[in-house]
Amino acid sequence: MKDAISSLVQKQRNYFYSGETKSISFRKNQLTALKEAIRNYESDILEALKKDLNKGEYEGFLTEIGFLYSELKDMIKNVDYWATPKKEKTPISSFGGKSFVYKEPYGVTLIIAPWNYPFQLAIAPLIGAIGAGNTAIIKPSELTPNTSVVIRELIATTFPEKYIAVVEGDVETSKVLLDEDVDYIFFTGSTEVGKKVMEAASKHLTPVTLELGGKSPAIIMDDANLKLAAKRIVWGKFLNAGQTCVAPDYILIHEKKRRKFLKLLTYYTKKWFGNEALKKRDYPKIINEKHVERLINLIDEEKVFYGGGFAQEQRFIEPTIMMDVTMDDPVMAEEIFGPILPIVTFEHPFEIVDIVRKRPNPLALYLFTESKDHEQFILSNLSFGGGCVNDTVMHLSTPYLPFGGVGASGMGSYHGKNSFDTFTHEKSILKQTTSFDLPIRYSQTKTSLSTLRKMWE
Ligand code: NAD
Repeated sequence: MKDAISSLVQKQRNYFYSGETKSISFRKNQLTALKEAIRNYESDILEALKKDLNKGEYEGFLTEIGFLYSELKDMIKNVDYWATPKKEKTPISSFGGKSFVYKEPYGVTLIIAPWNYPFQLAIAPLIGAIGAGNTAIIKPSELTPNTSVVIRELIATTFPEKYIAVVEGDVETSKVLLDEDVDYIFFTGSTEVGKKVMEAASKHLTPVTLELGGKSPAIIMDDANLKLAAKRIVWGKFLNAGQTCVAPDYILIHEKKRRKFLKLLTYYTKKWFGNEALKKRDYPKIINEKHVERLINLIDEEKVFYGGGFAQEQRFIEPTIMMDVTMDDPVMAEEIFGPILPIVTFEHPFEIVDIVRKRPNPLALYLFTESKDHEQFILSNLSFGGGCVNDTVMHLSTPYLPFGGVGASGMGSYHGKNSFDTFTHEKSILKQTTSFDLPIRYSQTKTSLSTLRKMWE
């Protein structure tokens, strides 16, 4: 395997050096080809998602395909402008010169994807890699084998492997890929594996983007519109059975509003999933037995307010709401990544800051409030990747906002222009005139020194 992978990387490097991937019209043609390929493969993609995760057609299109069309449209429309060298100011110390920033692709890029949105999270970074003029090797998740096959076929029938290739395989394959001296690594997955990816990247000093996870709180202040908060949280939490990196992980709610809010959460959960979510045709499965068992162990029956049921063999867990949860409960110890929603209460906003700061920086944070002061207080005191005020999850569906984590939830960002920037090296060039040569930098006189001081201070 190692030899085959080394030879693939070499093949892509040779192709990159041919310069073909850098032409803007080439990039646009490839992005258009990718769009057409996705359209042609839509039913295969949806079928594979159904097999791997029991995702229904609506959810599959909404979260895995539709978003990619919007990203492709944005990249095709703007890549000419984004790729144009930008003229910058030149300081007086370089009088006579002109300054430019050239947008240079890195070269051979490696994209490692997880299983929870197995199609979208493999292809969205690819749009950035192509738009910026790179070649790419995609390693889909081994836990969603049907989607992995569709990705391989779609890519193989659309692009030559010297340009874009898919390498299927498990952790060992991923490690072999990471041993290669590629020019950029874009990894989406868990924080634990993210650390290993960064360690591997450090051997070649390869730049990385790490899109990781974390415990993302939904904070409900006493002045929040509770009805809308409940509706939007139930949607964001139970989408993909809670297996979403930016799902609200837990709720922090003002003590006074807890009772009313629990009723509303139950109302919307029942409304969308009925009394028998486990029998619902399109209710997503938990990815594997290991995760089913992990999640079942997080459910404390005594604290279950709603749900709590599961069908272990079929890998279904009911949307479950837990109340009176404390920060010491096992469900608060790690990212849940499943359909379990714990409710923690607070009395004073300072407690929120304390709770969130004691944990690693979350990938997302959702604040529900009608007050500008509350908004200001939370946004200015807490560090997290990104989020919403009065909504959940939707901040990642826009091409106009950078999406990424901070600290333990990741580094770097993408979507829209940020995808282009992520896969682009900014090469700064100062072009100096040859018509004259100011003597100041060479002469070591006191007068020159004082002139330099005046210029810079
Ligand atoms: P994971 O880290 O286990 O696996 C991700 C990828 O890394 C897979 O392709 C896998 O084969 C590979 N991998 C696993 N172990 C490896 C190792 N030791 N060395 C090299 N490669 C290895 O993640 P997952 O379970 O597939 O996904 C769930 C996690 O991903 C959650 O923590 C979730 O929050 C996070 N996530 C983040 C985002 C985001 O955009 N920030 C999106 C989706 C998921």
